[in-house]
Amino acid sequence: MEDCIFCKIINKQIPSEIVYEDEEILAFKDIAPMAPVHILVVPKKHIASVMELSKEDELLVGKIYTVIQKLAKEFNVSEEGFRVITNCGEGAGQTVKHIHFHLLGGKKLSISMC
Ligand code: AMP
Ligand code: ZN
Repeated sequence: MEDCIFCKIINKQIPSEIVYEDEEILAFKDIAPMAPVHILVVPKKHIASVMELSKEDELLVGKIYTVIQKLAKEFNVSEEGFRVITNCGEGAGQTVKHIHFHLLGGKKLSISMC
């Protein structure tokens, strides 16, 4: 997807602070962090949103959560707790149309989810 900013990050066409990479998944620091730890975990495959996931992506989503678990330990938020958010659609505030998982932590997070 040539006009997708996260595809450009994945293809190293624009810089980012990468914290994890494998064949299928990339994780990088959010450019406008909302918590001391704010990492975006994305599949390298362009999937626009949760609504574009298909059966063949089930394993990939599971792998993303394993990466999130690893990063939570690495960034020392696994014990105090952290939040994983995926916004889907404009009403939920999704601004980048490439599915992504926000890993947020490092501070007391609001009990309110929305
Ligand atoms: P969402 O609003 O759920 O679609 O989240 C998109 C996120 O991408 C926001 O938190 C932005 O700060 C972040 N973002 C946008 N551009 C970049 C970029 N070039 N590098 C890192 N994070 C970005
Ligand atoms: Zn993309």
